[in-house]
Amino acid sequence: MVARPAPAPVPGALADRPVRRDGPPPATEGDVWALLSQIPDPEIPVISITDLGIVREVALDGRAVRVAITPTYSGCPATFVIAIAVEAALLDAGLTPTVTSRIDPPWTTDWLTEAAREKLRRYGIAPPATRGPEACPHCGATTVTQVSRHGSTPCKAQWRCDACAEPFDYFKCH
Ligand SMILES: [Zn+2]
Repeated sequence: MVARPAPAPVPGALADRPVRRDGPPPATEGDVWALLSQIPDPEIPVISITDLGIVREVALDGRAVRVAITPTYSGCPATFVIAIAVEAALLDAGLTPTVTSRIDPPWTTDWLTEAAREKLRRYGIAPPATRGPEACPHCGATTVTQVSRHGSTPCKAQWRCDACAEPFDYFKCH
């Protein structure tokens, strides 16, 4: 459960008005999934949170919707940001969301979709693999060397290609 303080009521302002939006609220769980698939991962914006595989459950009952999210790893700072983005998107869509965090079973990189892996490669990030990056995302060479265990975000490590000499990020979370 993500705790968020309720906004203070503003006298005579929007607080008591019904939610108005252009289209009808999502009517099916598929509609909700489609909406969530538009929310980017805050650390790697080329992939969505559904690409990442962290949305584990969507349950729609009228306008009430429950969404369970699994952090990519315990204490991942992006998880809170993602929960807020999900809540805001569902509120904007006219739904009443309850966003929960589900840590069991833990997220694994196997939950990344194949589409997400391809998007990562095109963005210059080597997708996760059991024994480190399988190939340079720039030239495809398989001779690669780790430069640093730490990358631009906690989920990434710095590697370099021995063939084209380009550095690249490796998505290491699992
Ligand atoms: Zn290369």
